[in-house]
Amino acid sequence: METLHIIGGGLAGSEAAWQAAKMGINVVIHEMRPTVGTFAHKTGNLAEMVCSNSFRSDDSEQNAVGLLHWEMRAAGGLIMEMADAHRLPAGGALAVDRDPFAAAVTARLTEHPNVSLQPGEMTVLPDSGHWIIATGPLTSTALGAAIQAETGADRLAFFDAIAPIVYTDSIDMSVTWAQSRYDKGDTEEERKAYLNCPMTKAQYEAFIDALLEAEKTEFHDGETATYFDGCLPIEVMAERGRETLRHGPMKPVGLTNAHNPSEKPYAVVQLRRDNALGTLYNIVGFQTKMKYGAQSTVFRMIPGLENASFARLGGIHRNTFINSPTLLDDRMRLRSRPNIRFAGQVTGVEGYVESAAMGLLAGRMAAAEILGRDLAPPPPETATGALITHITGGAEAKTFQPMNVNFGLFPPVEGLRGGRRGRKDRYKAYTDRAKTFWREWLDAQGAS
Ligand SMILES: Cc1cc2nc3c(=O)[nH]c(=O)nc-3n(C[C@H](O)[C@H](O)[C@H](O)COP(=O)(O)OP(=O)(O)OC[C@H]3O[C@@H](n4cnc5c(N)ncnc54)[C@H](O)[C@@H]3O)c2cc1C
Repeated sequence: METLHIIGGGLAGSEAAWQAAKMGINVVIHEMRPTVGTFAHKTGNLAEMVCSNSFRSDDSEQNAVGLLHWEMRAAGGLIMEMADAHRLPAGGALAVDRDPFAAAVTARLTEHPNVSLQPGEMTVLPDSGHWIIATGPLTSTALGAAIQAETGADRLAFFDAIAPIVYTDSIDMSVTWAQSRYDKGDTEEERKAYLNCPMTKAQYEAFIDALLEAEKTEFHDGETATYFDGCLPIEVMAERGRETLRHGPMKPVGLTNAHNPSEKPYAVVQLRRDNALGTLYNIVGFQTKMKYGAQSTVFRMIPGLENASFARLGGIHRNTFINSPTLLDDRMRLRSRPNIRFAGQVTGVEGYVESAAMGLLAGRMAAAEILGRDLAPPPPETATGALITHITGGAEAKTFQPMNVNFGLFPPVEGLRGGRRGRKDRYKAYTDRAKTFWREWLDAQGAS
């Protein structure tokens, strides 16, 4: 039987190896550490957690990442089993004792008769055989160049520049109006592609003050800030001059407030649809290094977003990731070279848990293929399915940026109360539905 090769033994590669090995497949993990290091990893262990030691909320009824924990546990995931075994007290969150955790993942994999570890950096894309590339946000330079040569320079990013994303049902539509600048577009949908939030002069000045005063996050050591002028953090633009944003992402030109056509807004913040479902909007051009607490406060000063719920907040990080919506098929295969799958953060998901989940899926899909079966992705009603559906199809390819799991990625459950008041029941309905679909998806695969 053919062997599965996995490049990168991080959170995703380790989970992929475990899932495939459990299905009877021989797996070779190619890991460059400790011979070649990264600025963030400190050890030669597999599944090293590079920064925080948290897997975030463990609530599988009210939280999308908690649901992802539940799904991985139900699928016999190694990362969750070892995280549970090395859990630290952290209230409702799952905090992990990182060194024993990584050592235990390494031991379980190296002791498995189907798994072998081949140390060393991989620098080229393999022509034949079954491969998974799970090299993460700090993919080595040589392999990054090889991926870029295959995909084209504009399909592989080395930094993310994430604008905050808001749940549509938390936007005050009595304040915003739908219009593209200068009514551009061939269809009515395109002419109304943006939601606009108008600001008076006083609101704009207060907003600039808040931006300038907000606490900012520093880049990590070694994570040099080589972001380009095209994606400067908004607070850096504000530092360059109080009017800079009004001539940049907040310019009011080509827009007429449908609620008050005679009054010209002093500045306008635009929101653009972020997924095919229409459940999420991003704040256009608002990438930022403000701390998360500050972001919620500052962005709720924007008219129409006073009660905004954020599916994710903004950020700028060193992060290698591919444009999955255009490059991958729904089986996580590179369209141009279907013998290669991608998994983990390099696919454009973000976070330890999301990355491990994409490893779980890629490992099972690759193993199924070697066994002569086809494994369809889990349905989008599950947390894992919502993520894979987003990165391989639902996300806007042109503006694709890494995504955490969140309920905005799930198809809405019909007939439930919207807004904040209905949230608890809505989330419970999402997670109940997800668990049913996930069990069915696992059961259809038999014992594996
Ligand atoms: C500075 C920093 C801080 C972060 N903080 C957090 C956080 O607090 N919380 C969070 O959830 N996420 C955080 N992340 C994201 C986190 O790194 C990922 O979510 C997670 O580690 C991704 O898992 P992965 O398996 O895709 O990649 P990784 O865990 O990074 O694993 C990739 C592996 O591939 C190896 N590799 C790379 N190139 C090659 C090659 N050419 N040949 C062989 N091996 C190779 C690497 O050595 C590494 O072991 C952070 C990322 C960075 C860079």
